[in-house]
Amino acid sequence: MADTRDVIIIGGGLVGLSVAYHLAEKGVPRIAVLERDAMWARGSSARSAGGVRHEFFHPSSVRFSQYGFKMFRDFEAQFGISASLNPCGYVFLTRDQQRWNTMVELASMQRSLGVPVEILTPDDLRRRYGYIHMPEVVGATFCGQDGVADPGAVAYGWARRARELGVQIRLHAEVTAITQSDGQVTGVVLQDGTVVKAPVVVNAAGPQARYVGALAGIALPVEPYRRSVYVTSAMTALPTEMPMTLELEHTSYIRREGRSILMGMSDPSESSSECVETDQESLEKLVGTVLSWVPALEQASIMRGWAGLYEVSPDDTAIIGEAKSLPGFYYAVGFSGHGFMHSPAAGRVVAELITGETPFVDLTPFALERFQYPTTRETFVI
Ligand SMILES: Cc1cc2nc3c(=O)[nH]c(=O)nc-3n(C[C@H](O)[C@H](O)[C@H](O)COP(=O)(O)OP(=O)(O)OC[C@H]3O[C@@H](n4cnc5c(N)ncnc54)[C@H](O)[C@@H]3O)c2cc1C
Repeated sequence: MADTRDVIIIGGGLVGLSVAYHLAEKGVPRIAVLERDAMWARGSSARSAGGVRHEFFHPSSVRFSQYGFKMFRDFEAQFGISASLNPCGYVFLTRDQQRWNTMVELASMQRSLGVPVEILTPDDLRRRYGYIHMPEVVGATFCGQDGVADPGAVAYGWARRARELGVQIRLHAEVTAITQSDGQVTGVVLQDGTVVKAPVVVNAAGPQARYVGALAGIALPVEPYRRSVYVTSAMTALPTEMPMTLELEHTSYIRREGRSILMGMSDPSESSSECVETDQESLEKLVGTVLSWVPALEQASIMRGWAGLYEVSPDDTAIIGEAKSLPGFYYAVGFSGHGFMHSPAAGRVVAELITGETPFVDLTPFALERFQYPTTRETFVI
């Protein structure tokens, strides 16, 4: 006999677990998270750099971050495990005058939403962050409410609470078909032939979102791209307390990781693939780029590194909603490198959509239908 559920969530990463937790907390019964892997949150969610920030192009994205930041801050009281939120701040640097004009405009919008974004001149930068060597910098923003948190702890907190609330998290459960009848989703079929029925199916498959969407006949423009992160040996030549520091032209960034420095880059010349191996070429490109604006890193050696997949949409903004042509099929995908910080709000709005409530944030910027028209790319792409 087929297993029957009220909601199936495909993917046990941060987004799927957040949807499961938020739904279960609303009292929705019989929820199953179907995860193809032998562990939950071992895909992109295990490879995140843990950054949490408020500077985005769309006001809705800013509000997503605000919800996430508050949840991470209060995580221990709510879930019994700390999300280790360290509000070390974010500094975004740019050498591009046009981008700078946009950043200044966006700072007004962000401040109107209660985000304390500061505008920094090149002189402010030199005074405050002497480790940055960027003579061509035009300006920078700083937000002291941004920081870093622990994605593993967050995934664990949600999974544990979801299970306590009755959610089934099924591992080794790869979805290979999505069934429908009379234009309504009816369930899924697993690789071993098991049928699981449900009137609601959520695609939270991260970098595999396009494939899972295609199983339902829904075209989701999400492509996987490799992103690499490396950690240096102990670095005494840089301040012990420093913000996440990012430059937007080559998309490289550094932050403290204990006594070491963590660094990464979203190499725009890299083509889409599912490769999660680090290699010498990407390391050398990253090191060369970072050394050009943080020369003190010359003294560091690389201790370890890893690569994971960004799940990238055409405008670097998530795609969230219910398929118009297939009622009951929902998606929360394409987070484009922001899926940790936006997973709390994504889970909440998907749960609100499923239970028929008005989402707490305007979801227009996340609509799949936006791609019928030219869209504006996110300004803060890293
Ligand atoms: C190097 C790197 C650094 C990053 N840094 C940050 C950061 O600083 N801040 C930030 O907010 N974000 C960051 N991100 C992005 C963030 O990690 C992702 O956006 C987020 O983890 C996406 O979560 P997810 O649940 O959608 O995807 P995933 O964690 O990949 O989960 C999707 C799950 O779906 C499962 N799945 C796929 N297909 C199927 C199927 N057919 N059946 C069953 N299960 C299936 C997969 O096995 C996987 O477990 C970073 C990502 C990388 C790679």
